[in-house]
Amino acid sequence: MRAQRAYHVPDAEGMIKLDAMENPYSWPPEMVEAWTEALREVTLNRYPDPGAARLKQRLRDTFKIPEASAVLLGNGSDELIQMILMAVGGVGRVVVAPEPSFSMYRIISTNVGMNYHSIALNADFSLDVAATRDAIVAQRPAVVFIAYPSNPTGNLFAAEDISSLIEAAPGVVVVDEAYSAFCDASFMDYLARYENLLILRTVSKLGLAGLRLGYLVGAPDWLEEIDKLRLPYNIGVLTQVSAEFALEHYAILLEQAKRIRADRQTLLGALQAVADVTVYPSQANFILFRVETGRAVEIFERLKQVGVLIKNLHGSHPALQDCLRVTVGTPEENRAFLSALRMVISVK
Ligand code: PMP
Repeated sequence: MRAQRAYHVPDAEGMIKLDAMENPYSWPPEMVEAWTEALREVTLNRYPDPGAARLKQRLRDTFKIPEASAVLLGNGSDELIQMILMAVGGVGRVVVAPEPSFSMYRIISTNVGMNYHSIALNADFSLDVAATRDAIVAQRPAVVFIAYPSNPTGNLFAAEDISSLIEAAPGVVVVDEAYSAFCDASFMDYLARYENLLILRTVSKLGLAGLRLGYLVGAPDWLEEIDKLRLPYNIGVLTQVSAEFALEHYAILLEQAKRIRADRQTLLGALQAVADVTVYPSQANFILFRVETGRAVEIFERLKQVGVLIKNLHGSHPALQDCLRVTVGTPEENRAFLSALRMVISVK
């Protein structure tokens, strides 16, 4: 433990916050009014519904979860990653994931004592299918994690590549669809085909990051086992009631996601026009870009000095040399970011 560092979240007080893939929009006043009204009914002296049955049903209806699949809830999808790894962990057990990818796969695998085995993505950030399949056959991982779309690269891997890995895997394959609101692709329909497929989702990026709610979908046999690792009452009553309320108004969240998707394209085009910047295509609510060799940290720090917080990825993985990641904000935030970036880049 002494060799590790706690997960660092930078202070964003007073900043234009484009570092954490949050939805920048709040709710119309009448919706806030109706929500606070719903909260009046909450009884804080009692424990929440341990199985969150009503919320699960609402999630099923909203996200078209197949009838035959079970649903498990987590305090954020982070907690579900932890539950999955605790369920299959043990001395000598292996986790396989492509890299660069979401950092918690590695962090939690290491913390539960598993061997984390990463396979480098191709230079264009597509899956190296042959190398990943070889690793799966040789290492027989208990779990394979694949983010779809991927973080921090923003791309969608080819569905047939993921299918071939699911078919090769002796254990479970978790397809992490944290950014599903910003693309049209999903593996939800593949659940009927693959018994070892689990779909991980979160409502964080959709606009409910403050609630901390993730959901895992898959075969009842698998979820029954993973459920044994869940702490009692892991979804608080305020989260249950608020998430149910928000999903009753799903159309508003969906509309916001649509705006973010459109603004992503505008931001992508504008970023491409900035000198010395290489932009990577994105199916998520963030964009990865590369700056001139050796300048990422300086550009990141100077953006911060002028009040724009994005994410520095330089130093986190060899494939992310000179890379920065920006979350799609409101059009005003995106413009403020772009003009700050142009200014910072031009002054060497
Ligand atoms: N999966 C991926 C791919 C992510 O990028 C994130 C958040 N950055 C998460 C899971 C975790 O999300 P949360 O815990 O907010 O549900």
